[in-house]
Amino acid sequence: MIRLSKSVVSELEAKRVSEVIIEDGYLGMGKDVNAFEQKLSDYMNRRVVCVNSGTAALHLAITAVVERGDHILVPSITYVATYQAIVAAGAIPISVDVDAATLSIDLADAEAKITDKTKAILPVLYAGNAKPMSSIELFVDRYQLRCIYDAAHAFGSMEGNNLVGSKGDIFCFSFDGIKNITCGEGGAIVSSDLDVITFCQNARLLGITNDTDKRYKGQRSWSFDVTHIGYRYHMSNLNAAIGLVQLERFESFKIKRQQLANLYHQLLSSISCISLLEIDYEQTVPHIFSLLLPVNVERELLRQFLLENGIETGVHYFPNHLLSFFSETGDCPVSESLFPRMLSLPLHPELVEEDIHFIVENVKQYINAEGEVA
Ligand SMILES: *Cc1c(COP(=O)(O)O)cnc(C)c1O
Repeated sequence: MIRLSKSVVSELEAKRVSEVIIEDGYLGMGKDVNAFEQKLSDYMNRRVVCVNSGTAALHLAITAVVERGDHILVPSITYVATYQAIVAAGAIPISVDVDAATLSIDLADAEAKITDKTKAILPVLYAGNAKPMSSIELFVDRYQLRCIYDAAHAFGSMEGNNLVGSKGDIFCFSFDGIKNITCGEGGAIVSSDLDVITFCQNARLLGITNDTDKRYKGQRSWSFDVTHIGYRYHMSNLNAAIGLVQLERFESFKIKRQQLANLYHQLLSSISCISLLEIDYEQTVPHIFSLLLPVNVERELLRQFLLENGIETGVHYFPNHLLSFFSETGDCPVSESLFPRMLSLPLHPELVEEDIHFIVENVKQYINAEGEVA
């Protein structure tokens, strides 16, 4: 079976985790989290706060910059984590449509949905593509909005000459099992805004003021103050140990993901009825490989056919504004019409070029170049 995605971990990560268990014996938040945070900070040249998931990173970042009842513009095509983080922070998600060429937020629709309650925009760097950032940055300047990027897909991607995370308001990364790098579970908030950084540092440790410094020295606070809400969202040394090794291996993951996506792009270009996303794989570290099927292809039948041939596929994502809990958040007709056409093909660093040839051959067996189902 060719998996859609998978954790790519090895003896190296296992060895580092066992060092934490056997040699150090402190599994909570301590020196490994400090080291991982420092490495990420050096990489992006920014302040970093590590937490236990990407969802927690979003929750804290949003809580840091909005008040209860504030509106946040968010694309409907995203993982439901993005929406749940907004409501967890007491804010209101305003669903925005996506651009059909990239499946990233449609700024014309975002503009139309701005009101005096709009405080922030939460763009998702879909599939890792950071190109839309240049127009998003102009948009947030123009409307004076806070900008929290859901960069869960985009670790290591570039926008022009800038690494994602190095320039812009606030970035949230995920290091869950299948992301560009993993900690097992984990996430990070990246920003230059010291108020945001300090809030997130304290809020990840139940709001306990200055507990981070103590924990990095192997101590903790016994008498302390709490001035705002907090959660138990800190990262553990076990997870950071995995992340430290993944960072060392990242360059090879990056090259592999780019090669595989380029090959998909090249091979699938011959099926003219399939729409490929406009993504520059020189700049992007692709987390997923998604495409749009022709309207006449019954996606679920194709997925079934591929599965019977040993190929697992996915759909990124079910439009959030169609979920019961978020059904009042705004109309997104483009997202709705694109959804039945969305298909994600397997992509992870353990695949080889033959796998991509095999997958594309199978797609071609099902759909010919004219879009006729065989
Ligand atoms: C993975 C992901 C998240 C959430 O990250 P977790 O670490 O799984 O909590 C949020 N948004 C998007 C787009 C994601 O892919």
